[in-house]
Amino acid sequence: MEKYDVLIVGGSTTGCWFADRMAQTGARVLVIEKQLPENVSREYDIFHMGEEDMKRFGLEIPEEGNPVRGFRYEHSNMISPYGTYRKKGADSPVIGLHKHDYIMLMAEKAQKSGAEFIYGAAFTDFIYEQGKIVGARYKTADGEQEVYAKIVADCSGIPSVARTKLPGTSAVCNFRLTPRDIFYVVLYYIKYVDKDVDPRALDGFFMQYKAWSAPAGEGYDAILGIGGSYSYEYSEEIFNAHYSRNVKYPEYTVEKVEKGMTPYHRSVYSFVDDGFIAMGDAACLTKPTCGEGCTSSLVQAEIAVDVISKLLKADLPLSKENMWSINKRYMVAQGKGFDFMRPLLIGVVGLNYDEAEYMFENEIVFSEALFNSMDGEDLNLKLDVVAKWLAGIAKGVANKKIRASAVGKVIKGLKQALEIAVLYDKYPDTPHGFSEWRAKADKKWTEIGSLADTCDPEIMEKLGY
Ligand SMILES: Cc1cc2nc3c(=O)[nH]c(=O)nc-3n(C[C@H](O)[C@H](O)[C@H](O)COP(=O)(O)OP(=O)(O)OC[C@H]3O[C@@H](n4cnc5c(N)ncnc54)[C@H](O)[C@@H]3O)c2cc1C
Repeated sequence: MEKYDVLIVGGSTTGCWFADRMAQTGARVLVIEKQLPENVSREYDIFHMGEEDMKRFGLEIPEEGNPVRGFRYEHSNMISPYGTYRKKGADSPVIGLHKHDYIMLMAEKAQKSGAEFIYGAAFTDFIYEQGKIVGARYKTADGEQEVYAKIVADCSGIPSVARTKLPGTSAVCNFRLTPRDIFYVVLYYIKYVDKDVDPRALDGFFMQYKAWSAPAGEGYDAILGIGGSYSYEYSEEIFNAHYSRNVKYPEYTVEKVEKGMTPYHRSVYSFVDDGFIAMGDAACLTKPTCGEGCTSSLVQAEIAVDVISKLLKADLPLSKENMWSINKRYMVAQGKGFDFMRPLLIGVVGLNYDEAEYMFENEIVFSEALFNSMDGEDLNLKLDVVAKWLAGIAKGVANKKIRASAVGKVIKGLKQALEIAVLYDKYPDTPHGFSEWRAKADKKWTEIGSLADTCDPEIMEKLGY
């Protein structure tokens, strides 16, 4: 029977990167990927990553002219609901890439480092011995196969095929993502009718619609994208009924439409259990502001490589206890920052467009200070900034620019965000005390609810939800 150190389920961005790094440490690594190579990650074409993040994680940056590369741009803007006010985001160049081709490059690199890949191999279940995970079963065109490994890493994205098979008693949550926990993203690849339009001058993100204009690579002027809860139909309705109506773009033609899903859910509380780790979208590691997850997943993966490779070298078991530091270190590096943002965002998207426009104008919440620190790792939300926002809100209410009920939502979001930060600071150093912490966290997240709760009631009714 084949025996590996690490079995990775899913060979997309997270799985390939983890495979490469673990193989580089000398571990014996196998990746099983459900799709055949030509079909891996075909849902959408263009994705992007921050150039600094790519350098940090040792991701190859294809040269200009390389067909894998789409484009490079300097920074993005956050734009007010009617398109009047633009707040400049952090000044960090972004590289656009063709996703399928880039993943195949990542897989090739991992194979050169020694990782083995089996394509057309779908995980079906764990193999247990004495109650412990010791490997997995998977299906190929030739039938069911078995493989043994010291750890199974779930990098299977939204379906979370391995994590959702864990028993309810596991430290790792085994929930399935529902349509409320997913962002349904629709990408319109467009061309402007007037060739003199500068598409880059129109680029930016509109938080109120969860919509954006961004470069699209060769052949198109821009991607107009939108994400929403529940379904693609919901996102398309918001695009047509709100975004396109309120934000005036020069006349354009839609050349191509792509659709894809990304998780929009707090990360799992514990990634690890005996012989198991959840990673990437399967652990809900996407950015709360935009749903991107390719590099944010690697923050956890990098910690995991460090901890797991040391345990393997010391011939120590890959147990929940021995790997617990992955949880704690991730919480400090990124988890607290990301989950702090979630309730705050629920609060601010509850504002109507006029209120949000006023707040953009007056640097209340929608301020350059916030957008420059929105990558989650360092929020820098100082008390004097919060105090300035509160004073601005009070003035807005007095001038009848903001409804008191909307203020209530923002303040509630801010309060819950701070409560999450305090709770996450107390994340246990060992599995001891985790059950109590988890019960408190569950209670808090039930109170917070979901961004899906802020969906437009009229559209919800129209779609029969
Ligand atoms: C339209 C759209 C645009 C996006 N743009 C960006 C962007 O610009 N930048 C960014 O950082 N993020 C972006 N994201 C998010 C990004 O796509 C994900 O966060 C990222 O792909 C997660 O990578 P992953 O490897 O964890 O999971 P996935 O990419 O979902 O990969 C999971 C892999 O597991 C395989 N698999 C599934 N089931 C099984 C099974 N049973 N057995 C074996 N293998 C299995 C799948 O075939 C797949 O290859 C976007 C998402 C969408 C929908």
